[in-house]
Amino acid sequence: MPLRSVLYSQRSLILTLIVLLGCGFLATSLLSYYASRASIRDGIVNTELPLTSDTVYSEIQKDLVQPILISSMMARDTFMRDWVVAGERDPQQITRYLNEVMTHYGAYTAFFISASNLTYYQAKGVLKKIRNDDPNDFWYFRVRDMQAPYEINVDPDTANNNRLTFFINYKVFDYNEHFIGAAGVGLTVDAVVKLMDKYQQRYQRGVYFVDTFGRLVLTGADGGPEGARAGQSLNDLASMKNLLAKLPKPQDGSYEYAEPDGKGHFLNVRFIPELNWYLFVDKREDSAFSGIRQSLYLNLLICLVVTLIVLALLNRVIHRYQQKIQALATLDSLTGLPNRRGFDLLAAQALHEAQREPKPLTALLLDLDHFKQLNDNHGHLAGDVVLSGFARDLEGCLRQSDIICRWGGEEFIVLLKDTDSANAQLIAEKVRQHVAQQRYSYNDQSLSLTLSIGLTALQHDDTLHSLLARGDRALYRAKQGGRNRVCSDLAKSADE
Ligand code: GH3
Ligand code: MG
Ligand code: MG
Repeated sequence: MPLRSVLYSQRSLILTLIVLLGCGFLATSLLSYYASRASIRDGIVNTELPLTSDTVYSEIQKDLVQPILISSMMARDTFMRDWVVAGERDPQQITRYLNEVMTHYGAYTAFFISASNLTYYQAKGVLKKIRNDDPNDFWYFRVRDMQAPYEINVDPDTANNNRLTFFINYKVFDYNEHFIGAAGVGLTVDAVVKLMDKYQQRYQRGVYFVDTFGRLVLTGADGGPEGARAGQSLNDLASMKNLLAKLPKPQDGSYEYAEPDGKGHFLNVRFIPELNWYLFVDKREDSAFSGIRQSLYLNLLICLVVTLIVLALLNRVIHRYQQKIQALATLDSLTGLPNRRGFDLLAAQALHEAQREPKPLTALLLDLDHFKQLNDNHGHLAGDVVLSGFARDLEGCLRQSDIICRWGGEEFIVLLKDTDSANAQLIAEKVRQHVAQQRYSYNDQSLSLTLSIGLTALQHDDTLHSLLARGDRALYRAKQGGRNRVCSDLAKSADE
């Protein structure tokens, strides 16, 4: 096969392997990545976020149970009802009572609003008169007119630096079931905010509350989505606009949305009827997938390294085999000498060097005499033994740097580097005599041999072909001249 097509098929083999290994590794890595992604996503949407939502909800409920009980007890308290029925004579009595409730139960505030004179009593004294034109006081009139015995309201506490507070507003009735006012306690939402912060930091998810108008009402320290703060409407956030249109009224749901820069989010929304708020639990996609994305990159890196190692090993093996095959292809199997293919390569280089320097170079064409006869008389195997024995002898008569080749059959060529015709003549004669004296043993037979040699020197405009053609003519003359002799094409007349 020509060298070019060998190289081509080697390259295409390596390319095919790269493509196969690359595609195989890529496919398995990506498949496992997307499978893990899907299961992580399922875990987040179906378990993780609903669980956080449940926990936050139950914490809120737990926090609200005790204040509801205290407020209920206040509404049924005979002292308070007696004091109101008796005409609310000493405000200090009710104040002391409210203070007792507040300090004993650890409430943030305790209050009573009298229906008869709209006075707002609290633990520290009389706070103010409730007014039906003050938006801060609207809650009282709502409580007065509502059917339910109590409500939970989240408002800033005007008596305490407008701190956001859960109020339990209980209706108070006298012994004839007449409405005589509203009482209850308030507790700050700090505990809930702390809980949200804990979740946010520990589990890397956002927890915040949104009212039915889509306004953020309560967030952890980091704020809501895109860092939005309480009071801000989610409608103002680019990522939330579409989502709000889909938001159910009022029920739980799982959603996915993306920020304008493409970062995905998983979202669990739950309506909390006690507060009339939505609880949002939000997890960023990249925080969830960063672990498996890293293992994907690591996987791909390992695949790349394995592919490169496999290819490097393969390349080395192919290269070695190529060298072996090339060596085999350029050597003659019987004599171990370079064959015609090997000779072509070596001779081309030797001729090039000799002509460039310039240096003398002489070619010897050797042909064994009557070899056919030897084969006929002693057998082909005997001929083979003589051929390889002759090759060893020929090598023994020459220098390492000389180029020897089995040209074919029982014909050999020698290129004597840096050797002029006169010296070449001596060497050729030495070879001829040495071989003539040599005996080759085969099956207890001693076989002898003579050879004819044609000699020619390289000329400056010679090609390998023209050099060998002249050598061949000299060899022909040696044969013609009776064999077992050296003939030179230059010393034609002397030989003849
Ligand atoms: P001449 O002196 O004119 O060269 O006579 P010759 O018999 O040597 O020449 P010819 O070209 O007629 O015969 C060459 C013989 O060499 C014939 C062929 O069978 C034999 N031969 C060629 N290659 C091999 C080989 O590898 N092994 C053996 N045993 N014989 C070979
Ligand atoms: Mg011959
Ligand atoms: Mg011959």
